[in-house]
Amino acid sequence: MSKFIFITGGVLSSLGKGIASSSIGTLLSANGYRVTNIKCDPYINVDPGTMNPFQHGEVYVTDDGGEMDLDLGHYERFLNHRMEKKNNITSGSVYNTVIQKERAGKYLGQTVQVIPHITGEIKNRFRKFEQDNYDIVLVEIGGTVGDIESLPFLEAIREFAIEKGRGETIFIHLTLVPYIKSASELKTKPTQHSVASLRQIGISPDMIFCRTEKELPEDLRRKISLFCNTDYNSVIEALDVGNIYEVPLLYHKKNVDRIILEKLHLPCPGAQMKRWQQVATIMRTARKKVRVGIIGKYVNLRDAYKSIDEALTHGGIKNRCLVEKVFIEAAHVEKNPEALKNLDGILVPGGFGMRGIEGKIKAIKFARENNIPFFGICLGLQCAVIEFARSVCKLKGANTTEIEAKAPYPVIDIMEEQKEITDLGGSMRLGAYPCRLERGSRAAGIYKTRLIEERHRHRYEFNNAYREIFLKKGMRFTGIFEKSDLAEIIELPGHKWFLAVQFHPEFKSSPVAPHPLFASFIGSMLETGIKKRQKK
Ligand code: GLN
Repeated sequence: MSKFIFITGGVLSSLGKGIASSSIGTLLSANGYRVTNIKCDPYINVDPGTMNPFQHGEVYVTDDGGEMDLDLGHYERFLNHRMEKKNNITSGSVYNTVIQKERAGKYLGQTVQVIPHITGEIKNRFRKFEQDNYDIVLVEIGGTVGDIESLPFLEAIREFAIEKGRGETIFIHLTLVPYIKSASELKTKPTQHSVASLRQIGISPDMIFCRTEKELPEDLRRKISLFCNTDYNSVIEALDVGNIYEVPLLYHKKNVDRIILEKLHLPCPGAQMKRWQQVATIMRTARKKVRVGIIGKYVNLRDAYKSIDEALTHGGIKNRCLVEKVFIEAAHVEKNPEALKNLDGILVPGGFGMRGIEGKIKAIKFARENNIPFFGICLGLQCAVIEFARSVCKLKGANTTEIEAKAPYPVIDIMEEQKEITDLGGSMRLGAYPCRLERGSRAAGIYKTRLIEERHRHRYEFNNAYREIFLKKGMRFTGIFEKSDLAEIIELPGHKWFLAVQFHPEFKSSPVAPHPLFASFIGSMLETGIKKRQKK
Protein backbone atom coordinates (compact mmCIF):
# COMPACT_ATOMS: atom_id res chain seq x y z
CA MET A 1 0.00 0.00 0.00
CA SER A 2 1.28 3.46 -0.84
CA LYS A 3 2.01 5.98 1.89
CA PHE A 4 1.06 9.61 1.25
CA ILE A 5 2.78 12.92 2.03
CA PHE A 6 0.62 16.04 1.76
CA ILE A 7 2.38 19.36 1.26
CA THR A 8 0.61 22.64 1.91
CA GLY A 9 1.86 26.21 1.76
CA GLY A 10 1.32 29.06 4.14
CA VAL A 11 1.78 32.85 4.48
CA LEU A 12 2.22 33.65 0.78
CA SER A 13 2.65 32.09 -2.64
CA SER A 14 5.94 31.69 -4.54
CA LEU A 15 7.69 30.04 -1.60
CA GLY A 16 8.85 27.25 -3.88
CA LYS A 17 6.42 24.53 -2.85
CA GLY A 18 7.03 22.82 -6.20
CA ILE A 19 10.79 22.74 -5.63
CA ALA A 20 10.27 21.59 -2.03
CA SER A 21 7.95 18.75 -3.10
CA SER A 22 10.32 17.74 -5.90
CA SER A 23 13.32 17.80 -3.59
CA ILE A 24 11.61 15.67 -0.95
CA GLY A 25 10.61 13.26 -3.74
CA THR A 26 14.21 13.17 -4.96
CA LEU A 27 15.53 12.31 -1.50
CA LEU A 28 13.00 9.53 -0.99
CA SER A 29 13.64 8.04 -4.40
CA ALA A 30 17.40 8.28 -3.74
CA ASN A 31 16.65 6.02 -0.74
CA GLY A 32 15.38 3.43 -3.19
CA TYR A 33 11.63 4.06 -2.89
CA ARG A 34 9.20 4.16 -5.80
CA VAL A 35 7.93 7.72 -5.61
CA THR A 36 5.63 9.97 -7.60
CA ASN A 37 4.25 13.50 -7.19
CA ILE A 38 0.74 14.87 -7.65
CA LYS A 39 -0.15 18.54 -8.04
CA CYS A 40 -3.62 19.73 -6.99
CA ASP A 41 -4.60 23.06 -8.52
CA PRO A 42 -7.62 24.84 -7.07
CA TYR A 43 -8.66 26.73 -10.25
CA ILE A 44 -11.77 25.95 -12.30
CA ASN A 45 -9.97 25.56 -15.64
CA VAL A 46 -10.05 21.85 -16.49
CA ASP A 47 -6.34 22.16 -17.31
CA PRO A 48 -3.99 25.15 -17.76
CA GLY A 49 -3.89 24.60 -21.56
CA THR A 50 -6.25 27.49 -22.25
CA MET A 51 -4.50 29.88 -19.87
CA ASN A 52 -2.28 32.73 -20.92
CA PRO A 53 1.35 32.05 -19.89
CA PHE A 54 1.38 35.59 -18.47
CA GLN A 55 -1.16 34.41 -15.89
CA HIS A 56 0.15 31.05 -15.03
CA GLY A 57 3.59 30.53 -16.49
CA GLU A 58 4.40 27.83 -18.99
CA VAL A 59 2.04 25.00 -19.87
CA TYR A 60 3.99 21.79 -19.34
CA VAL A 61 3.29 18.81 -21.63
CA THR A 62 3.61 15.14 -20.69
CA ASP A 63 4.15 12.09 -22.93
CA ASP A 64 0.45 11.19 -22.74
CA GLY A 65 -0.53 14.65 -24.03
CA GLY A 66 -1.47 16.26 -20.72
CA GLU A 67 -1.34 20.06 -20.63
CA MET A 68 -0.17 20.58 -17.10
CA ASP A 69 0.91 22.95 -14.38
CA LEU A 70 4.58 23.86 -14.58
CA ASP A 71 5.29 22.15 -11.25
CA LEU A 72 4.95 18.86 -13.12
CA GLY A 73 8.05 19.98 -14.99
CA HIS A 74 9.92 20.34 -11.70
CA TYR A 75 8.79 16.85 -10.68
CA GLU A 76 10.07 15.29 -13.91
CA ARG A 77 13.35 17.19 -13.81
CA PHE A 78 14.04 16.27 -10.18
CA LEU A 79 12.70 12.74 -10.12
CA ASN A 80 13.76 11.86 -13.67
CA HIS A 81 10.52 9.90 -13.80
CA ARG A 82 7.66 10.37 -16.27
CA MET A 83 4.48 12.09 -15.12
CA GLU A 84 1.04 11.45 -16.61
CA LYS A 85 -2.21 13.42 -17.02
CA LYS A 86 -3.50 11.99 -13.76
CA ASN A 87 -0.62 13.61 -11.81
CA ASN A 88 -2.33 17.01 -12.12
CA ILE A 89 -5.73 17.31 -10.43
CA THR A 90 -7.55 20.62 -10.95
CA SER A 91 -10.82 21.70 -9.33
CA GLY A 92 -12.16 22.09 -12.87
CA SER A 93 -11.45 18.48 -13.79
CA VAL A 94 -12.89 17.20 -10.50
CA TYR A 95 -16.11 19.22 -10.93
CA ASN A 96 -16.27 18.11 -14.56
CA THR A 97 -16.29 14.44 -13.55
CA VAL A 98 -18.82 14.98 -10.78
CA ILE A 99 -21.18 17.00 -12.98
CA GLN A 100 -20.99 14.45 -15.79
CA LYS A 101 -21.82 11.69 -13.32
CA GLU A 102 -24.73 13.70 -11.98
CA ARG A 103 -26.11 14.22 -15.50
CA ALA A 104 -25.81 10.50 -16.12
CA GLY A 105 -27.94 9.86 -13.03
CA LYS A 106 -25.14 8.05 -11.20
CA TYR A 107 -25.91 9.70 -7.84
CA LEU A 108 -29.35 8.08 -7.69
CA GLY A 109 -31.33 11.14 -6.65
CA GLN A 110 -28.90 12.45 -4.02
CA THR A 111 -28.13 16.14 -3.57
CA VAL A 112 -24.64 16.50 -5.03
CA GLN A 113 -22.40 18.50 -2.69
CA VAL A 114 -18.81 19.60 -2.08
CA ILE A 115 -18.69 17.18 0.86
CA PRO A 116 -18.87 14.23 0.20
CA HIS A 117 -19.00 14.25 -3.62
CA ILE A 118 -16.25 16.67 -4.65
CA THR A 119 -13.99 15.55 -1.80
CA GLY A 120 -14.88 11.94 -2.65
CA GLU A 121 -13.81 12.39 -6.26
CA ILE A 122 -10.51 13.96 -5.10
CA LYS A 123 -9.86 10.95 -2.86
CA ASN A 124 -10.69 8.59 -5.74
CA ARG A 125 -8.03 10.29 -7.82
CA PHE A 126 -5.46 9.73 -5.03
CA ARG A 127 -6.46 6.07 -4.71
CA LYS A 128 -5.70 5.44 -8.39
CA PHE A 129 -2.02 5.81 -7.49
CA GLU A 130 -2.25 3.02 -4.94
CA GLN A 131 -3.05 0.62 -7.77
CA ASP A 132 0.24 1.62 -9.44
CA ASN A 133 2.22 0.27 -6.48
CA TYR A 134 4.05 3.43 -5.57
CA ASP A 135 5.73 3.24 -2.16
CA ILE A 136 5.25 6.93 -1.52
CA VAL A 137 2.96 9.48 -3.21
CA LEU A 138 3.65 13.17 -2.60
CA VAL A 139 0.64 15.45 -3.01
CA GLU A 140 1.24 19.18 -3.33
CA ILE A 141 -1.79 21.39 -2.70
CA GLY A 142 -1.62 24.56 -4.80
CA GLY A 143 -2.43 27.97 -3.35
CA THR A 144 -2.00 29.18 0.21
CA VAL A 145 -3.78 27.93 3.31
CA GLY A 146 -6.58 30.38 4.04
CA ASP A 147 -7.73 30.65 0.41
CA ILE A 148 -11.39 29.76 -0.13
CA GLU A 149 -10.53 27.89 -3.31
CA SER A 150 -8.32 25.18 -1.89
CA LEU A 151 -10.69 24.22 0.95
CA PRO A 152 -12.16 21.11 -0.76
CA PHE A 153 -8.63 19.77 -1.32
CA LEU A 154 -7.69 20.39 2.32
CA GLU A 155 -10.87 18.70 3.51
CA ALA A 156 -10.15 15.77 1.18
CA ILE A 157 -6.62 15.24 2.51
CA ARG A 158 -7.86 15.47 6.09
CA GLU A 159 -10.45 12.75 5.42
CA PHE A 160 -7.99 10.67 3.44
CA ALA A 161 -5.46 10.68 6.30
CA ILE A 162 -8.09 9.47 8.77
CA GLU A 163 -9.23 6.72 6.41
CA LYS A 164 -5.66 5.52 5.84
CA GLY A 165 -4.81 5.46 9.56
CA ARG A 166 -1.78 6.53 11.60
CA GLY A 167 1.69 6.20 10.13
CA GLU A 168 0.29 5.97 6.58
CA THR A 169 0.25 9.69 5.78
CA ILE A 170 2.02 12.84 6.95
CA PHE A 171 1.37 16.54 6.52
CA ILE A 172 4.16 18.96 5.68
CA HIS A 173 3.60 22.70 5.82
CA LEU A 174 5.90 25.13 4.05
CA THR A 175 5.96 28.65 5.45
CA LEU A 176 7.96 31.84 5.45
CA VAL A 177 9.89 33.22 8.40
CA PRO A 178 10.52 36.77 7.21
CA TYR A 179 13.49 38.87 8.28
CA ILE A 180 12.46 42.33 9.39
CA LYS A 181 15.33 44.67 8.71
CA SER A 182 14.31 47.53 11.01
CA ALA A 183 14.13 45.13 13.97
CA SER A 184 17.04 42.94 12.74
CA GLU A 185 14.85 39.97 13.57
CA LEU A 186 13.29 36.90 12.05
CA LYS A 187 9.57 36.72 12.79
CA THR A 188 7.58 33.55 13.47
CA LYS A 189 4.11 35.09 13.78
CA PRO A 190 3.03 34.53 10.15
CA THR A 191 3.96 30.85 10.56
CA GLN A 192 1.98 30.60 13.79
CA HIS A 193 -1.08 32.11 12.10
CA SER A 194 -0.87 29.95 9.05
CA VAL A 195 -0.54 26.76 11.12
CA ALA A 196 -3.45 27.99 13.26
CA SER A 197 -5.68 28.22 10.14
CA LEU A 198 -4.58 24.77 9.10
CA ARG A 199 -5.42 23.34 12.53
CA GLN A 200 -8.80 25.04 12.41
CA ILE A 201 -9.75 22.77 9.54
CA GLY A 202 -8.42 19.73 11.33
CA ILE A 203 -4.90 19.38 9.96
CA SER A 204 -1.92 19.51 12.27
CA PRO A 205 1.38 19.54 10.39
CA ASP A 206 3.83 16.73 11.19
CA MET A 207 6.67 18.83 9.79
CA ILE A 208 7.14 22.54 9.15
CA PHE A 209 9.61 23.75 6.55
CA CYS A 210 10.57 27.36 7.21
CA ARG A 211 11.74 29.33 4.23
CA THR A 212 14.17 31.95 5.48
CA GLU A 213 16.92 34.19 4.21
CA LYS A 214 18.86 34.02 7.51
CA GLU A 215 19.75 31.00 9.61
CA LEU A 216 16.94 30.05 11.95
CA PRO A 217 18.29 30.11 15.53
CA GLU A 218 17.44 27.30 17.93
CA ASP A 219 15.17 29.44 20.12
CA LEU A 220 12.98 30.34 17.14
CA ARG A 221 12.74 26.73 16.06
CA ARG A 222 11.68 25.87 19.62
CA LYS A 223 9.11 28.65 19.57
CA ILE A 224 7.63 27.42 16.29
CA SER A 225 7.62 23.88 17.64
CA LEU A 226 5.77 24.95 20.79
CA PHE A 227 3.21 27.25 19.20
CA CYS A 228 2.55 25.05 16.21
CA ASN A 229 2.35 21.75 18.07
CA THR A 230 5.10 20.09 16.00
CA ASP A 231 8.11 18.33 17.51
CA TYR A 232 11.35 20.32 17.54
CA ASN A 233 13.27 18.04 15.15
CA SER A 234 10.50 18.38 12.58
CA VAL A 235 10.85 22.15 12.31
CA ILE A 236 13.22 22.39 9.37
CA GLU A 237 15.19 25.45 8.39
CA ALA A 238 14.90 25.84 4.60
CA LEU A 239 17.48 28.49 3.91
CA ASP A 240 17.51 30.35 0.55
CA VAL A 241 19.95 28.84 -1.94
CA GLY A 242 21.34 30.33 -5.14
CA ASN A 243 20.56 27.26 -7.23
CA ILE A 244 17.39 25.16 -6.98
CA TYR A 245 19.29 21.95 -7.69
CA GLU A 246 21.01 22.30 -4.31
CA VAL A 247 17.73 22.02 -2.41
CA PRO A 248 17.75 18.17 -2.26
CA LEU A 249 21.30 18.33 -0.88
CA LEU A 250 20.27 20.95 1.67
CA TYR A 251 17.35 18.79 2.83
CA HIS A 252 19.62 15.78 2.96
CA LYS A 253 21.94 17.65 5.30
CA LYS A 254 18.96 18.41 7.55
CA ASN A 255 18.05 14.68 7.68
CA VAL A 256 14.69 15.35 6.05
CA ASP A 257 14.54 11.86 4.50
CA ARG A 258 15.29 10.12 7.81
CA ILE A 259 12.69 12.17 9.69
CA ILE A 260 9.98 11.58 7.07
CA LEU A 261 10.67 7.86 6.74
CA GLU A 262 10.59 7.44 10.52
CA LYS A 263 7.17 9.10 10.66
CA LEU A 264 5.95 6.81 7.89
CA HIS A 265 7.41 3.75 9.67
CA LEU A 266 9.69 2.97 6.75
CA PRO A 267 13.40 2.08 6.89
CA CYS A 268 15.95 4.71 5.80
CA PRO A 269 18.71 2.96 3.87
CA GLY A 270 20.43 6.29 3.11
CA ALA A 271 20.15 8.48 0.01
CA GLN A 272 22.55 8.12 -2.91
CA MET A 273 23.15 11.78 -3.80
CA LYS A 274 26.34 11.51 -5.87
CA ARG A 275 24.83 12.77 -9.13
CA TRP A 276 23.22 15.74 -7.39
CA GLN A 277 26.51 16.56 -5.73
CA GLN A 278 28.19 16.50 -9.15
CA VAL A 279 25.57 18.92 -10.54
CA ALA A 280 26.09 21.29 -7.59
CA THR A 281 29.88 21.14 -7.93
CA ILE A 282 29.77 21.91 -11.66
CA MET A 283 27.44 24.85 -11.11
CA ARG A 284 29.60 26.20 -8.31
CA THR A 285 32.96 25.82 -9.99
CA ALA A 286 32.23 26.46 -13.69
CA ARG A 287 34.18 29.44 -14.97
CA LYS A 288 33.21 29.47 -18.64
CA LYS A 289 30.02 31.26 -19.59
CA VAL A 290 27.89 31.72 -22.72
CA ARG A 291 25.15 34.29 -23.38
CA VAL A 292 21.98 33.06 -25.02
CA GLY A 293 19.28 35.41 -26.26
CA ILE A 294 15.73 34.09 -25.93
CA ILE A 295 13.56 36.05 -28.31
CA GLY A 296 10.05 35.68 -26.96
CA LYS A 297 6.76 37.25 -26.25
CA TYR A 298 6.21 36.47 -22.56
CA VAL A 299 9.63 37.70 -21.41
CA ASN A 300 8.33 39.68 -18.42
CA LEU A 301 7.30 36.53 -16.65
CA ARG A 302 10.31 34.26 -16.36
CA ASP A 303 8.08 31.26 -15.53
CA ALA A 304 6.55 31.47 -19.00
CA TYR A 305 9.71 29.81 -20.39
CA LYS A 306 10.53 27.72 -17.33
CA SER A 307 11.49 24.46 -19.06
CA ILE A 308 13.60 26.21 -21.71
CA ASP A 309 15.31 28.23 -19.00
CA GLU A 310 16.13 25.01 -17.12
CA ALA A 311 17.09 22.99 -20.20
CA LEU A 312 19.63 25.69 -21.16
CA THR A 313 21.11 25.41 -17.66
CA HIS A 314 21.29 21.63 -18.13
CA GLY A 315 23.03 22.12 -21.49
CA GLY A 316 25.56 24.23 -19.56
CA ILE A 317 26.02 21.51 -16.93
CA LYS A 318 26.84 18.99 -19.67
CA ASN A 319 29.50 21.39 -20.99
CA ARG A 320 30.67 22.44 -17.52
CA CYS A 321 29.78 26.05 -18.17
CA LEU A 322 27.29 28.64 -16.98
CA VAL A 323 24.57 29.94 -19.26
CA GLU A 324 23.53 33.56 -19.05
CA LYS A 325 20.01 33.93 -20.43
CA VAL A 326 18.98 37.23 -21.91
CA PHE A 327 15.22 37.38 -22.40
CA ILE A 328 14.47 39.79 -25.23
CA GLU A 329 10.99 41.00 -26.17
CA ALA A 330 10.49 40.01 -29.82
CA ALA A 331 8.49 43.15 -30.59
CA HIS A 332 11.48 45.17 -29.37
CA VAL A 333 13.82 43.42 -31.86
CA GLU A 334 11.61 44.57 -34.75
CA LYS A 335 12.65 48.17 -34.16
CA ASN A 336 15.97 47.66 -32.38
CA PRO A 337 18.03 44.95 -34.07
CA GLU A 338 21.06 46.04 -32.01
CA ALA A 339 19.39 44.12 -29.13
CA LEU A 340 20.82 41.03 -30.84
CA LYS A 341 24.45 42.07 -30.47
CA ASN A 342 26.82 40.32 -28.07
CA LEU A 343 24.90 37.07 -27.99
CA ASP A 344 26.73 33.75 -28.39
CA GLY A 345 23.52 32.07 -29.51
CA ILE A 346 19.87 32.80 -30.30
CA LEU A 347 16.87 30.71 -29.29
CA VAL A 348 13.34 31.33 -30.53
CA PRO A 349 10.85 29.46 -28.32
CA GLY A 350 7.25 28.34 -28.90
CA GLY A 351 4.31 30.70 -28.82
CA PHE A 352 0.93 31.61 -30.19
CA GLY A 353 -0.54 34.58 -32.06
CA MET A 354 0.77 37.45 -34.01
CA ARG A 355 2.62 39.77 -31.61
CA GLY A 356 6.38 39.67 -32.01
CA ILE A 357 6.46 37.32 -35.01
CA GLU A 358 8.33 39.76 -37.24
CA GLY A 359 10.90 40.37 -34.48
CA LYS A 360 11.50 36.64 -34.18
CA ILE A 361 11.93 36.38 -37.95
CA LYS A 362 14.42 39.25 -37.86
CA ALA A 363 16.41 37.55 -35.10
CA ILE A 364 16.55 34.31 -37.11
CA LYS A 365 17.72 36.16 -40.23
CA PHE A 366 20.46 37.76 -38.13
CA ALA A 367 21.55 34.36 -36.77
CA ARG A 368 21.47 32.72 -40.20
CA GLU A 369 23.41 35.45 -41.97
CA ASN A 370 26.00 35.92 -39.23
CA ASN A 371 26.63 32.23 -38.53
CA ILE A 372 25.42 32.53 -34.94
CA PRO A 373 24.14 29.29 -33.37
CA PHE A 374 20.35 29.23 -33.68
CA PHE A 375 17.83 26.92 -32.03
CA GLY A 376 14.15 27.16 -32.98
CA ILE A 377 11.44 25.45 -30.97
CA CYS A 378 7.91 24.91 -32.33
CA LEU A 379 6.87 28.45 -33.33
CA GLY A 380 10.64 29.01 -33.57
CA LEU A 381 10.79 26.40 -36.36
CA GLN A 382 7.79 27.96 -38.07
CA CYS A 383 9.44 31.41 -38.00
CA ALA A 384 12.69 29.94 -39.37
CA VAL A 385 10.69 28.44 -42.25
CA ILE A 386 9.03 31.79 -42.99
CA GLU A 387 12.37 33.60 -42.88
CA PHE A 388 14.00 31.08 -45.24
CA ALA A 389 11.01 31.24 -47.61
CA ARG A 390 11.12 35.02 -47.80
CA SER A 391 14.90 35.59 -47.85
CA VAL A 392 16.31 32.54 -49.63
CA CYS A 393 13.45 31.07 -51.70
CA LYS A 394 12.27 34.58 -52.61
CA LEU A 395 8.66 33.76 -51.78
CA LYS A 396 7.61 37.31 -51.00
CA GLY A 397 5.00 37.60 -48.25
CA ALA A 398 5.39 33.95 -47.18
CA ASN A 399 3.68 33.42 -43.84
CA THR A 400 1.86 31.07 -41.51
CA THR A 401 -1.89 30.86 -41.91
CA GLU A 402 -2.16 31.21 -38.12
CA ILE A 403 -1.43 34.90 -38.71
CA GLU A 404 -2.47 35.50 -42.28
CA ALA A 405 -5.21 33.15 -43.45
CA LYS A 406 -4.79 34.21 -47.08
CA ALA A 407 -0.97 34.42 -47.17
CA PRO A 408 0.36 34.34 -50.78
CA TYR A 409 2.75 31.53 -49.80
CA PRO A 410 1.31 29.61 -46.82
CA VAL A 411 4.56 27.83 -45.91
CA ILE A 412 3.14 26.96 -42.47
CA ASP A 413 -0.44 25.76 -42.51
CA ILE A 414 -3.01 24.23 -40.19
CA MET A 415 -2.85 20.44 -39.94
CA GLU A 416 -5.54 18.52 -41.79
CA GLU A 417 -7.04 16.95 -38.64
CA GLN A 418 -7.13 20.35 -36.91
CA LYS A 419 -9.39 22.00 -39.49
CA GLU A 420 -12.71 20.86 -38.02
CA ILE A 421 -11.82 21.41 -34.36
CA THR A 422 -13.84 24.02 -32.47
CA ASP A 423 -13.18 22.95 -28.87
CA LEU A 424 -10.01 24.75 -27.74
CA GLY A 425 -9.23 22.60 -24.68
CA GLY A 426 -6.85 19.66 -25.13
CA SER A 427 -7.33 19.57 -28.90
CA MET A 428 -3.89 20.41 -30.31
CA ARG A 429 -1.39 17.84 -31.54
CA LEU A 430 -0.29 16.91 -28.04
CA GLY A 431 2.17 14.60 -26.37
CA ALA A 432 4.85 12.18 -27.55
CA TYR A 433 5.25 11.24 -31.23
CA PRO A 434 8.03 9.22 -32.85
CA CYS A 435 10.38 10.94 -35.28
CA ARG A 436 12.80 9.30 -37.75
CA LEU A 437 16.15 11.07 -38.17
CA GLU A 438 18.02 11.30 -41.48
CA ARG A 439 21.26 9.34 -41.61
CA GLY A 440 24.31 11.61 -41.40
CA SER A 441 22.33 14.65 -40.24
CA ARG A 442 23.38 16.87 -37.35
CA ALA A 443 20.27 15.71 -35.46
CA ALA A 444 21.17 12.01 -35.85
CA GLY A 445 24.73 12.78 -34.70
CA ILE A 446 23.45 14.61 -31.63
CA TYR A 447 20.88 12.01 -30.60
CA LYS A 448 23.21 9.12 -31.56
CA THR A 449 20.17 7.16 -32.76
CA ARG A 450 17.77 7.21 -35.73
CA LEU A 451 14.41 6.97 -33.93
CA ILE A 452 13.44 9.44 -31.22
CA GLU A 453 10.28 10.41 -29.39
CA GLU A 454 9.50 13.99 -28.42
CA ARG A 455 6.51 15.97 -27.13
CA HIS A 456 4.29 18.24 -29.19
CA ARG A 457 1.84 21.07 -28.60
CA HIS A 458 0.74 22.87 -31.77
CA ARG A 459 -1.87 23.08 -34.52
CA TYR A 460 0.25 24.21 -37.46
CA GLU A 461 2.98 22.45 -39.45
CA PHE A 462 5.35 22.85 -42.38
CA ASN A 463 3.39 22.86 -45.67
CA ASN A 464 4.85 20.00 -47.74
CA ALA A 465 3.89 21.75 -50.99
CA TYR A 466 7.06 23.80 -50.44
CA ARG A 467 9.44 20.98 -49.52
CA GLU A 468 10.98 20.69 -53.02
CA ILE A 469 11.92 24.33 -53.32
CA PHE A 470 13.28 24.43 -49.74
CA LEU A 471 15.41 21.35 -50.46
CA LYS A 472 16.74 22.94 -53.65
CA LYS A 473 17.72 26.06 -51.73
CA GLY A 474 19.68 24.05 -49.15
CA MET A 475 17.36 23.41 -46.21
CA ARG A 476 17.35 19.83 -44.90
CA PHE A 477 14.38 18.09 -43.32
CA THR A 478 16.25 15.78 -41.02
CA GLY A 479 13.44 14.58 -38.76
CA ILE A 480 10.13 13.24 -40.06
CA PHE A 481 7.00 11.84 -38.41
CA GLU A 482 6.68 9.11 -40.97
CA LYS A 483 3.06 8.12 -40.48
CA SER A 484 1.81 11.53 -41.65
CA ASP A 485 5.00 12.69 -43.41
CA LEU A 486 5.31 15.76 -41.16
CA ALA A 487 8.55 17.74 -41.02
CA GLU A 488 9.75 17.74 -37.41
CA ILE A 489 13.36 18.97 -37.68
CA ILE A 490 15.02 21.39 -40.11
CA GLU A 491 18.74 22.12 -40.45
CA LEU A 492 21.02 24.31 -42.53
CA PRO A 493 24.13 22.19 -43.19
CA GLY A 494 26.59 25.00 -44.03
CA HIS A 495 25.82 26.90 -40.84
CA LYS A 496 27.71 26.62 -37.52
CA TRP A 497 24.57 25.38 -35.70
CA PHE A 498 21.17 26.08 -37.24
CA LEU A 499 18.53 23.63 -36.15
CA ALA A 500 14.83 23.94 -35.41
CA VAL A 501 12.29 21.44 -34.13
CA GLN A 502 8.51 21.29 -34.29
CA PHE A 503 8.42 19.55 -30.89
CA HIS A 504 9.43 20.65 -27.39
CA PRO A 505 12.71 19.00 -26.34
CA GLU A 506 12.89 21.22 -23.24
CA PHE A 507 10.27 19.01 -21.56
CA LYS A 508 12.61 16.04 -21.52
CA SER A 509 15.72 17.56 -20.01
CA SER A 510 16.96 17.23 -16.45
CA PRO A 511 20.10 18.34 -14.59
CA VAL A 512 21.26 14.74 -14.23
CA ALA A 513 20.35 13.88 -17.86
CA PRO A 514 20.66 17.06 -19.99
CA HIS A 515 18.83 16.95 -23.32
CA PRO A 516 21.33 16.26 -26.16
CA LEU A 517 20.01 19.11 -28.36
CA PHE A 518 20.49 21.69 -25.59
CA ALA A 519 23.90 20.24 -24.74
CA SER A 520 25.00 20.44 -28.38
CA PHE A 521 23.59 23.97 -28.83
CA ILE A 522 25.50 25.25 -25.79
CA GLY A 523 28.60 23.30 -26.86
CA SER A 524 28.61 25.02 -30.25
CA MET A 525 28.42 28.43 -28.58
CA LEU A 526 31.26 27.61 -26.32
CA GLU A 527 33.49 27.12 -29.35
CA THR A 528 32.27 30.41 -30.85
CA GLY A 529 32.60 32.27 -27.55
CA ILE A 530 36.14 31.08 -26.95
CA LYS A 531 37.23 31.94 -30.51
CA LYS A 532 35.67 35.39 -30.14
CA ARG A 533 37.62 35.99 -26.94
CA GLN A 534 40.85 34.70 -28.49
CA LYS A 535 40.47 37.21 -31.32
CA LYS A 536 40.26 40.13 -28.87
N1 GLN B 1 1.22 28.60 -32.67
C1 GLN B 1 1.91 27.53 -33.32
C2 GLN B 1 1.02 26.34 -33.61
O1 GLN B 1 -0.03 26.21 -33.04
C3 GLN B 1 3.12 27.10 -32.50
C4 GLN B 1 2.76 26.50 -31.19
C5 GLN B 1 3.94 26.41 -30.23
O2 GLN B 1 4.96 27.06 -30.44
N2 GLN B 1 3.81 25.61 -29.20
O3 GLN B 1 1.35 25.53 -34.42
